[in-house]
Amino acid sequence: MYDYDLLVVGSANADLVIDVERRPAAGETVLGGDLAVHPGGKGANQAVAAARLGAGTALLARVGDDAYGRLLLDSLRASGVDTVGVLVGGAPTGVALITVDPSGDNSIVVSPGANARLAPADVRAAVSLFLASRVVSAQLEIPLETVVEVVRNLSPDSRFVLNPSPPRPLPTEVLAACDPLIVNEHEARVILGESCVSEDPADWARLLLAKGPRSVVVTLGAEGALVADSSGVSSVPSVKVDAVDTTGAGDAFTAALAWRLGAGAALEEAAAYAARVGAAAVTRRGAQESYPTAREVGLL
Ligand code: ADP
Repeated sequence: MYDYDLLVVGSANADLVIDVERRPAAGETVLGGDLAVHPGGKGANQAVAAARLGAGTALLARVGDDAYGRLLLDSLRASGVDTVGVLVGGAPTGVALITVDPSGDNSIVVSPGANARLAPADVRAAVSLFLASRVVSAQLEIPLETVVEVVRNLSPDSRFVLNPSPPRPLPTEVLAACDPLIVNEHEARVILGESCVSEDPADWARLLLAKGPRSVVVTLGAEGALVADSSGVSSVPSVKVDAVDTTGAGDAFTAALAWRLGAGAALEEAAAYAARVGAAAVTRRGAQESYPTAREVGLL
């Protein structure tokens, strides 16, 4: 028996957002609207998305001993995430400074802060969480050596899901542990490198699979997703919705997919469920605030 359906290992950030008429040029000061502070970071987003769907979820992350760290802990707990693995201190909480202009274009400065201090030793110290979790998911807003340590500490029967965002080339050891590796178009291109000239996402899925993961999912925004494993490539249709804000859709998709796979669903079935969750998330503004409950997705 597992205590947790999903253990997310990843980042927690405060997103500080200001609407501006025009994003400032070098040396320029512009006036903007009121500051909005949102809980974010890919790790915290995934954990909140899973917990809202009803998954027993824990997060291994690091925040600062400061007001943003407390805001993130409050928000995680309010969504039902177990924060026993959220370490406090070592650096200020990670922050994203975001300006958004009227056309929706943004400029973002990220200070990784405490996320950059989530160390391999923190993973080793959390071995009891790994033993207690059916599925472990990670992203790349924490140091790569920490993700390598995650792969080394998986319990024999648990499953590892990776969304390599922001993307960078991955060691074979990490690729081989993924079941699945979940990428969007940009992430697929970075991981495949310049050797990939194909424009066909099915080719990306096959080429990624050849790099070692047991399965691959390519998300295609409003076009849905492709899934690939040793039995071949198949497509998961998108759910038609009026998109309002796609922020955090990929995190919701990944969390939902990881949870359903852990519950025993086949890859295609889990991806179809995740596509509904991703679609629901784009119908509302924000990331964590936009995530649906199981009742809203209406599928279980
Ligand atoms: P990312 O946010 O990582 O770039 P995507 O944009 O591919 O990821 O979105 C992840 C998933 O969310 C998609 O595979 C799809 O299922 C769903 N999704 C995203 N955008 C839309 C949309 N406009 N309409 C319907 N579903 C969407």
